[in-house]
Amino acid sequence: MRTTTVVLGGGQSGLAMSHCLSARSIDHVVLERNEVANSWRRDRWDSLRLLTPNWQCRLPGHAYQGDDPDGFMMASEVADFLAEYAKRIGAPVIGGTTVTSVRRTEDGYAVGSDQGEWLCTAVVVATGAFNVPAIPAFAEAVPSNVTTITAMDYRNPDQLGEGGVMVVGASATGVQLASEIRRSGREVVLSVGEHVRGPRSYRGQDIHWWMEVAGVLDERYDEVDDIVRARRVPSMQLAGSDERATFDLNALTAMGVKLVGRLAGVRDGQAQFSGSLRNKCELADLKLGRLLDTIDEWAVTSGQDGSVSAPHRFEPTRVDSSPRLGLDLTSGEIETIVWSTGFRPDYSWLEVDVLDQKGMIRHDGGVVDSPGMYLLGNPFLRRRKSSFIDGSRADAEDLIVELSAYLDRRASSSTR
Ligand SMILES: Cc1cc2nc3c(=O)[nH]c(=O)nc-3n(C[C@H](O)[C@H](O)[C@H](O)COP(=O)(O)OP(=O)(O)OC[C@H]3O[C@@H](n4cnc5c(N)ncnc54)[C@H](O)[C@@H]3O)c2cc1C
Repeated sequence: MRTTTVVLGGGQSGLAMSHCLSARSIDHVVLERNEVANSWRRDRWDSLRLLTPNWQCRLPGHAYQGDDPDGFMMASEVADFLAEYAKRIGAPVIGGTTVTSVRRTEDGYAVGSDQGEWLCTAVVVATGAFNVPAIPAFAEAVPSNVTTITAMDYRNPDQLGEGGVMVVGASATGVQLASEIRRSGREVVLSVGEHVRGPRSYRGQDIHWWMEVAGVLDERYDEVDDIVRARRVPSMQLAGSDERATFDLNALTAMGVKLVGRLAGVRDGQAQFSGSLRNKCELADLKLGRLLDTIDEWAVTSGQDGSVSAPHRFEPTRVDSSPRLGLDLTSGEIETIVWSTGFRPDYSWLEVDVLDQKGMIRHDGGVVDSPGMYLLGNPFLRRRKSSFIDGSRADAEDLIVELSAYLDRRASSSTR
């Protein structure tokens, strides 16, 4: 089978690109191993809601139209929203098709799948940045009396034993799971490394509204000092809820969650925590202060200062004067460990030499280091919001310009 462009993956990124390709009449297919919005339908826990407000669900030619723009859709509603989008734009999605290889040919790429091979001139990798859980190597040393589960396999507290739970990782996923598990009545220890603190609301507005209007989410990949570092920054401690609650460490401590430092290792049945908890929290408080300073400055310069409530600062993160540095995992205190240590992409099918030492695709703002190959959906791909729904829109609209220019160059060189 031959087509001009093969889009790999039918999530928001693949669909956004499909819309942009159709708008330029570029012949393409979208290969999806399952069904549209598979990650939102299958890879998330039951209670997950967007942490971005519904009004920020914008895709090329489509936006949230429901009656709760300031609310936060459930994962299943996001999946429905994307399925509706796919239908509306007539995306040529071929579902139930797992891509098993992508290799270069003389004039483009051969995309192998369990349903046959496609030959094409350009490829868009939109298979997602969060395909598999990233777990520390020392996870293997956890004693067998403790059950371990990853955030990808976690669905709800009923899956867990009745005993204590240690949640490892305190970014958006970790704080949400720690809070839910604590509310189920279990004792919860939360292991906290580097994290990004964020209030749900500030000066009467959602924090995502502020970050959008103040230009924080639009900050570009070629404008930041250290893009490698920026791409590794953990997700902000946020969750969507009807109460518009803040999910920072103070909120969790108030619920009875016990904070410990970063899990540095497991040895002879002992979990060992770094002594840096206080430092990490102070750093997160400092960075939150800087974000609020940026917002306050924007409010003044944009003339909005008078129309929102007055600036204020949040209480510093409360940390025990001597948090525990070890925990005996053989003692029965912890029955389950939930790894909320992040996710990474799976490029095991990629046979083109574009992976760096860490297994990430080498690219310049989504233009991959292989002619005619493009990447979408990765953190800070082209801007801070790149891995968000709204980022897929902006990035796809940029990358289609690159992709169609490439096709034009190819076409004009072959007619010469
Ligand atoms: C827990 C969590 C919460 C999030 N919350 C928010 C939020 O509130 N707001 C927000 O804007 N963003 C959020 N995100 C970030 C982002 O919006 C989602 O990860 C989103 O799913 C990314 O879309 P995508 O299209 O880039 O990738 P995905 O949705 O992962 O889509 C990739 C698609 O490719 C398919 N695929 C993968 N490999 C293959 C293969 N080999 N062959 C064929 N198909 C394949 C998959 O089945 C999948 O359908 C969250 C992410 C996570 C992990």
